[in-house]
Amino acid sequence: MSEVEHKLHLTVNAISHTTNTPKQTKDIGFILGKTLHGGEVIAITGDLGTGKTHFVQGIGQGLGLVSSEITSPTFALIHEHASLIPLFHIDLYRLESLAEVEAIGLEEYFTRNGVIVIEWAERAMSLLPAKKIAVTILHEGGDKRKITITKNSDNQSETLK
Ligand code: ADP
Ligand code: MG
Repeated sequence: MSEVEHKLHLTVNAISHTTNTPKQTKDIGFILGKTLHGGEVIAITGDLGTGKTHFVQGIGQGLGLVSSEITSPTFALIHEHASLIPLFHIDLYRLESLAEVEAIGLEEYFTRNGVIVIEWAERAMSLLPAKKIAVTILHEGGDKRKITITKNSDNQSETLK
């Protein structure tokens, strides 16, 4: 079991890990993906080109999907990927108003027992449940990215540095 995998299984609420290649970012997503059971909401924040989509590809792989099929929904707000545990991939980059998110009926997806992953989640944070997995990706120069995964429960949010 890798260090990241080990930490994700602990009761520790947050982990940080630095990656140096797109593949490594995907691998962290993969490890997270394998821990999911359905029903989780994963809110990803991070600037353009930090690797959010690569991370989602890894999550998809962890759920048994083919990662090359996972691309950012550009014209649709949401892509559905059927799997034993379905993946609902949302990208809010082009979002113009919160009403658009309300229109896709997020609540309905929450009841479908899949994994909901949202890129640019900061654009609709107020519409997301308190209980979620928050992923932040920071560009640290060159190909270096710092990925922090925080598990927020209903009434607490702890970040371990
Ligand atoms: P986003 O969805 O955040 O806009 P993408 O995953 O689409 O980002 O693209 C990330 C870009 O950064 C790709 O061109 C990828 O090759 C590059 N890259 C370089 N280093 C990394 C890294 N450590 N992790 C993820 N992507 C990286
Ligand atoms: Mg993207």
